[in-house]
Amino acid sequence: PAALDLEQLRASIRTVPDFPKPGIQFRDITTLLSEPAALRTSVSLLADMARDQGATVIAGMEARGFIFGAAVAIHAGLGFVPIRKPGKLPVETIGVDYALEYGTDRLELDPSALAPGARVALVDDLIATGGTALAAAELVKLTGAHVAGALFVVDLPDLGGSTRLRDADIPVHSLVSFD
Ligand code: AMP
Repeated sequence: PAALDLEQLRASIRTVPDFPKPGIQFRDITTLLSEPAALRTSVSLLADMARDQGATVIAGMEARGFIFGAAVAIHAGLGFVPIRKPGKLPVETIGVDYALEYGTDRLELDPSALAPGARVALVDDLIATGGTALAAAELVKLTGAHVAGALFVVDLPDLGGSTRLRDADIPVHSLVSFD
């Protein structure tokens, strides 16, 4: 399929009001994934950005970061490391707890999956407050690896996450944004 421009890519994302709770505009990438040109364009552009950031490996956050992250890794000729929800990995892990609006969550990583000196590009479908991405970055740094950058299909700039990442000296790139 021919590449889409960013306006067409943005139009392939469905907005579902009041999910998962009233007042949230859920930006649903299911519609992007099912459209071959949109899927191919988003993966290809994210892979270009990973190369620009000098990444030597891609890490994706469960679950939608697995979809884009693994595809980006293949496209860029790199390996993929999953950053998982708690209790999923069958080996000794390292973990980082982070605050949610209500309560806390946790991400885990198998540190042996990252080679010494690895330069990691984090990939997720969307950045909102940046809590998930900052926790993932902290986890990567705990292994001694370097965070080359963070890549997203969608940025919600009003929620401040991309600014928080840049304040932490993490290069951030997103393909489209929604106010
Ligand atoms: P945050 O940690 O606040 O940056 O939230 C990012 C994570 O929550 C990503 O993994 C997104 O998939 C999901 N997320 C947060 N807000 C939305 C939204 N409005 N629409 C779709 N996904 C969202």
